[in-house]
Amino acid sequence: MSSMPTTVPTAERFRALGPHHLDEIADRYGLSDDIRETIRAVACVLPFRVNEYVLSNLVDWDDIPDDPIFRLVFPQRGMLDPADERRLAELARAPGDRAELRSLVRHIRDGLNPHPSGQRQLNVPHVGEAEVRGLQHKYRQTVLHFPGQGQTCHAYCTYCFRWAQFVGDPDLRFAAPTPDGLLAYLAVHPEVEDVLVTGGDPLVMSTERLRAHLEPILGVETVRTIRIGTKSPAYWPYRFVTDHDADDLLRLFEEIVASGRNIAVMAHLSHPRELETDPARRALARVRGTGALVYCQAPLIAHVNDDAEVWARLWRAELACGAIPYYMFVERDTGPHDYFAVPLARAAEIFRDAYRTLPGLARTVRGPVMSATPGKVLVDGVEEDGSGRYFRLRMLQAREPALVARPFRAHYDARATWLDDLVLTPDTPADIAAAVGTSGRSDMSGTSTPGTPRGLAGRARRRSRYDLRPAEASRR
Ligand code: SF4
Repeated sequence: MSSMPTTVPTAERFRALGPHHLDEIADRYGLSDDIRETIRAVACVLPFRVNEYVLSNLVDWDDIPDDPIFRLVFPQRGMLDPADERRLAELARAPGDRAELRSLVRHIRDGLNPHPSGQRQLNVPHVGEAEVRGLQHKYRQTVLHFPGQGQTCHAYCTYCFRWAQFVGDPDLRFAAPTPDGLLAYLAVHPEVEDVLVTGGDPLVMSTERLRAHLEPILGVETVRTIRIGTKSPAYWPYRFVTDHDADDLLRLFEEIVASGRNIAVMAHLSHPRELETDPARRALARVRGTGALVYCQAPLIAHVNDDAEVWARLWRAELACGAIPYYMFVERDTGPHDYFAVPLARAAEIFRDAYRTLPGLARTVRGPVMSATPGKVLVDGVEEDGSGRYFRLRMLQAREPALVARPFRAHYDARATWLDDLVLTPDTPADIAAAVGTSGRSDMSGTSTPGTPRGLAGRARRRSRYDLRPAEASRR
């Protein structure tokens, strides 16, 4: 990576760079006109944001367009339907009336499943008849809180499953202006032990604002853990090191630990390069110095990290920083899913090949895991017997506690990328079949019943890099 700077500034001021800075970025790094126009067109639909740290320290500009971090943060050709991309490019170039562009953008976004896995229909909690704004409650012990000012990130991942948070449409957005709704909800739900503060990235907020959301939670005796979902160690590690209120942030963590609660930083790390810089390592060391726990998770993404060797390096780098490898997720069925999707069969291979090289302390990681409508479903491998080939599956977490830790199976399908692509076997317990049947399909009666329209059977799928020719698929 010869063109990457070897020195890292000791102090930086955060500046978000978006579509308006595209020409500046393209000129500086010599992006071709074609790449520039593609980014401009696709960024009309998918959120685009980077910053100087990401540009100067993470992207390898000698390896464009294949560089994994470039694909992680810059919109790419193939993420949208080619005809849509062409029309977007024409409309983005044309001066004058923007009404047609806005209408096309809205139409494309509606087709990208902005709230996957029933987030809007099933996870929004109520106190009495009233919906609690900016909250999700899916699993009994854990509530998600979305602070209103924390619904952006220091840079945006092109695969983001929360992309709808960033596109300026209030109908698509979860956001709590204050913690009042959360506190009212916790008061009548003592079963909640764990509050996950998430976004976006809550650490885009000043420490003062973050404190206003976290401190009141310490008055709720039943809450034992506060988690913060963040990609700041990767995209803006200065948040913990040299930002003007970095020390205040660490003091806040120390106070939470002193209160007898756990504070857990759920670090979203997609690629080992994100932990190769001094600021990133210093950030994690400082966080750990407060007594906070650091858990690491990321989705498995085609073009970015679909390689066992990359994951093995990532998990080892996390362990070297004293962080705990936690989840390898399957890319969710939202946004440019077909571009990033890795078939479940390949995902299980990548996980196995990386996992078997790890020292014992890094084998805390679980995966590949689908965070699906009924719960977190682990793809525990592929097995074969005289009757055929199957995916071994297991519920790691579930809306229905009785389903947790229960194994089940689905028929092997080399092309399947999500739960609703799978057909469960006839011996699936009825309660699991009922729960999974809302998103997967079942052959309990001997004939397949259709799942949601987004299954392979109903979804108009674009080609991905893993698409197989029929003969190849049948051999696998
Ligand atoms: S850091 Fe998380 S919320 Fe932010 S863009 Fe990436 S995936 Fe989305």
